[in-house]
Amino acid sequence: YNIATLKRANNHHPIKNVKNIIAVSSGKGGVGKSSTAVNLALALQKQGAKVGILDADIYGPSIPTMLGTEKEQPLTPDNKHMSPIMAYGLASNSIGYLVDADGAMVWRGPMASKALCQILEDTLWPELDYLVMDMPPGTGDIQLTLAQNVPVTATVIVTTPQDIALIDAKKGIIMYNKVNIPTLGIIENMSYHICENCGHHEAIFGEDGAKHLAEKYQTQLLGQIPLHRLLRQDLDSGKPTVINHPDSEFTQLYYKIAAQV
Ligand code: ADP
Ligand code: MG
Repeated sequence: YNIATLKRANNHHPIKNVKNIIAVSSGKGGVGKSSTAVNLALALQKQGAKVGILDADIYGPSIPTMLGTEKEQPLTPDNKHMSPIMAYGLASNSIGYLVDADGAMVWRGPMASKALCQILEDTLWPELDYLVMDMPPGTGDIQLTLAQNVPVTATVIVTTPQDIALIDAKKGIIMYNKVNIPTLGIIENMSYHICENCGHHEAIFGEDGAKHLAEKYQTQLLGQIPLHRLLRQDLDSGKPTVINHPDSEFTQLYYKIAAQV
């Protein structure tokens, strides 16, 4: 699949100003979904697209931290809508902007899904070619409700090469198939570790898992991102690698993925 050749995945009413919604999903938490979503969004933007990011991970919003915007709050010009928070040219919104730092989310599934749909619809998105949605992990209630209520164009699945992550990634592909949302491809994160002393590549979590998964479900392996301290540090400091190290090999890897979307 390629976005350009896709019909709208379903016939929900479109979100104003938003051409394509790309859901970045994973079966498991902690595999690097948010890290990938934010760097992919920035890579798409650097290639000339207008891009926004919606942090749909209602129970663990991390986009504000990764964009260095955690202290900001969206303004509301009319007490109904929210202006997105701008960071590095990206328009963003997140439940993280709307609750205080330790406001843990204890909402049940239906409420959480409703809140999410509302944030998506009530944000005054500028004209966007892509809205990247950082999805909550799993294939439960929230994913299904979102898939059925939001005009998602396609999904990108993030996994590590580890068997337990791959099993959950597979469930993700199957779920999105069932709700007629095409899978653009799989991104293997923490694919290998680069030794900082000798440059040696070591497969810590296993090899070729995502490649085999992609083959089995007739989708593509969009790219492999190594496990590296720099990626982690850049995200923790609120300046993702695509911004903070634009000439790095890692940024090139994200560009390569963005070019396939
Ligand atoms: P998820 O959204 O799937 O729960 P995150 O993107 O928040 O996962 O990643 C979990 C943690 O791992 C974060 O602290 C992030 O900085 C770190 N991380 C993610 N991908 C990488 C990577 N390729 N190299 C180094 N650290 C990474
Ligand atoms: Mg996350």
